[in-house]
Amino acid sequence: MSFLRGTTHLLRGMRSAAALALAVGALAAPLRAQAPAGADAAGGGATGVQLIGMRTWPSPGGTRVVLSFNTAVTPVAPDSGVGPQLVVAVPTPGIAAAAGVPASLVVGDSAVTRVEALIDANGARFWIKLAPLVHFKVFTLPAEEDAPFRVVVDVTNPGAQAAEERRLAGIAAAKKKSRTRLVVIDAGHGGEDRGARGPGPVYEKHVTLAIARRLADTLNNVPGIKAILTRDGDFFIPLRERYHIAEKVKADLFVSIHCNSSRRRGRGSGTEVYFLSLKGATDQSDQDLADDENAADKAGGVSPQAEDDVVSVVYEVRRNSMLERSQLLAETLLDHIAADRRVEARGIKQAGFAVLKSVEFPSALVETAFINNPREVKLLKDPLFQLKMARQLATGIRAYFTRAGVTLGADDGAGRSSGSR
Ligand SMILES: [Zn+2]
Repeated sequence: MSFLRGTTHLLRGMRSAAALALAVGALAAPLRAQAPAGADAAGGGATGVQLIGMRTWPSPGGTRVVLSFNTAVTPVAPDSGVGPQLVVAVPTPGIAAAAGVPASLVVGDSAVTRVEALIDANGARFWIKLAPLVHFKVFTLPAEEDAPFRVVVDVTNPGAQAAEERRLAGIAAAKKKSRTRLVVIDAGHGGEDRGARGPGPVYEKHVTLAIARRLADTLNNVPGIKAILTRDGDFFIPLRERYHIAEKVKADLFVSIHCNSSRRRGRGSGTEVYFLSLKGATDQSDQDLADDENAADKAGGVSPQAEDDVVSVVYEVRRNSMLERSQLLAETLLDHIAADRRVEARGIKQAGFAVLKSVEFPSALVETAFINNPREVKLLKDPLFQLKMARQLATGIRAYFTRAGVTLGADDGAGRSSGSR
């Protein structure tokens, strides 16, 4: 982000602990004298610039702090670093907090202890008290159709990240020992990346997690199959990281759950199942859909990544074999979804979805139904429909293993009652 490059030097003076402590001390004093940040909100300040949100998104490896504004602002902060605390200043005189925005957040997780907002005549300052030994990164996200301008602080805890890696390695080791088939269920979107929106509003990221959890629970009751989730909470994961999680646990199958939207696709309804295309999409509207889904990284603040440029013959053979199996998986899943007449089966399609690009296992992406279709959004919100969709997908996954000649290993039953993680 160019503005950060421009402002970083302003902060260099603040990097010493003494300077930071001074800044924090100066911040802390008026806070006690002031009402909560939200109290002086109504109408905004003289400039009309408002802090409209302050919240955190915890994930296994850290926490994302998001400060939302009604217009673009220029934060002054180090772009990255380590240390016990961090001050993000927004030196806009007259800035005010909107009603309901908290003056402080008590977080207390592995990455962030608390966040304090302080607004005075000179602007806003955010004091972010960090857990020991964490790293932080500060950047901004521009306003989008559905999201305001945001200042984002990603705080990662290397110890928590290492623990997560150990957890994934443990799943892979247990799988090898018990010879169960491991299915990774990926709930699309999450955190800052809300996905498509339906009336209400209903956000895709919540529906996908609800269906993914039910699918994992259903599969965990099938002897010989274990399911895990790429995310079991409301946080952002880059697309590539989603299949990397599946690679780390040595998954046998990867299914990504999404909701369709007719924003760019006319008046849509029904279910589609996709597998990866290497050479363009089934048609232009499928390409548009893949572009929308691939924009998830941008929504969450990850710059687009270069395509892998692997050309070995072994790789190509493996990739083609995975594509064939992915097609079989997609067809089998759709066959079983089609049994529910409430949602029309629109068919099997191909497009260049970034999340489907692993060559380690077959993968498919299910666009369960249209979230902006008034009839289908009611279904998507309905726990009974979510459960039915999950059961159909689970049946489809079992049928895929049968069709593909994959035997389900003997399960000692230990993993069955342990839920999805
Ligand atoms: Zn999606």
